[in-house]
Amino acid sequence: MSEPTKAPAASGGSRASTKKELPEHFKSYKHVWVFIEQERGQVHPVSWELMGAGRKLADKLKVELAAVVIGPEGEATQHAATEAFCYGADLAYVVADPLLTDYRNEAYTKALTDVVNTYQPEILLLGATTLGRDLAGSVATTLLTGLTADCTELDVDADGSLAATRPTFGGSLLCTIYTLNFRPQMATVRPRVMPMPDRVEKIAGRIITHPLGMIEDDIVTKVLSFLPDRDSNKSNLAYADVVVAGGLGLGSPENFQLVRQLASVIGAEFGCSRPLVQKGWVSSDRQIGQTGKTIRPKLYIAAGISGAIQHRVGVEGADLIVAINTDKNAPIFDFAHMGIVTDAIRLLPALTEAFRARLSPHSRDRIAS
Ligand SMILES: Cc1cc2nc3c(=O)[nH]c(=O)nc-3n(C[C@H](O)[C@H](O)[C@H](O)COP(=O)(O)OP(=O)(O)OC[C@H]3O[C@@H](n4cnc5c(N)ncnc54)[C@H](O)[C@@H]3O)c2cc1C
Repeated sequence: MSEPTKAPAASGGSRASTKKELPEHFKSYKHVWVFIEQERGQVHPVSWELMGAGRKLADKLKVELAAVVIGPEGEATQHAATEAFCYGADLAYVVADPLLTDYRNEAYTKALTDVVNTYQPEILLLGATTLGRDLAGSVATTLLTGLTADCTELDVDADGSLAATRPTFGGSLLCTIYTLNFRPQMATVRPRVMPMPDRVEKIAGRIITHPLGMIEDDIVTKVLSFLPDRDSNKSNLAYADVVVAGGLGLGSPENFQLVRQLASVIGAEFGCSRPLVQKGWVSSDRQIGQTGKTIRPKLYIAAGISGAIQHRVGVEGADLIVAINTDKNAPIFDFAHMGIVTDAIRLLPALTEAFRARLSPHSRDRIAS
């Protein structure tokens, strides 16, 4: 689900034309919640990124920030809840039940909608991961509220409404969407769009447990086995410290190997612009940008990429962007920190050789730290 739901979220039309007093019954909806996504004991880092964004919203609204943790009974779920306090939570809601060991939409939707209906948050944020998108859609439809997907910015208006901003019209415009007539206001945010807040050691605060109230027979989906992902080539683009990417300017799939070679020598992940995926030169999990991955590396090297807005939105969180392009007027030079106007097909092998000569495996690790 990559588009916001049309019905409730957009039903009010533009904010300017519909501004009104919030209905009285909205007042029982208070506080900002973040769904803490964990699978097999691993919390997805997007959850902590959202805690950082949620903290800012909660402070602005002068309300509490709560983490919602759903999972099996046991240490991992408890740990996720206590860890949430180190990322800014004031309290945590926990639904722990053996039926929640594996993610199953029905059980997780029931768990989350039940806590929402009981404790009534004003704002509910989830990561736009595979799990988060699946859960957010079904929770919003069950609660009959609006959901703005893949937000790039979150803020609150003077009246406390969530202003959820996301790209629209193919990424050429940003629109701000309000859920005017329904509560809670729900939004998803993709990994790496929000900065990771610092973790500050803290003692756990209030933890409120809530029962699931389901039996196995209530759940149609059965997990027969769990196969761990053994694809060692799978990209870790979103969380890589160094990324080298290539675009159409490289001219052929053979030349794209130059990107892979440089990435390999400096211990980086490799990525690409969308046309390379469309041409079948590179697999889709390597695409960077609005419809691909958002990255926040310390160093991003872009070779033969023009810097279209849909690519830019996925990379502008990088600390240092180095662009290699033959066209000195290419849009990428508007936001790159360092530009090299030259032929990438000649420069990339020269860079690879220079790094190969200078870097021992030990110093390669240092680049990424
Ligand atoms: C709805 C929608 C979603 C999209 N999502 C994404 C997305 O997620 N990610 C994405 O990347 N794009 C996305 N796009 C596509 C985007 O609009 C651009 O078309 C795309 O980013 C352009 O890719 P490019 O820079 O590789 O190619 P081009 O725009 O063709 O740029 C090639 C560049 O290479 C330079 N060049 C040529 N030869 C050389 C050379 N030898 N050495 C160095 N430089 C050279 C050229 O000067 C040029 O600047 C999306 C578009 C739409 C409509």
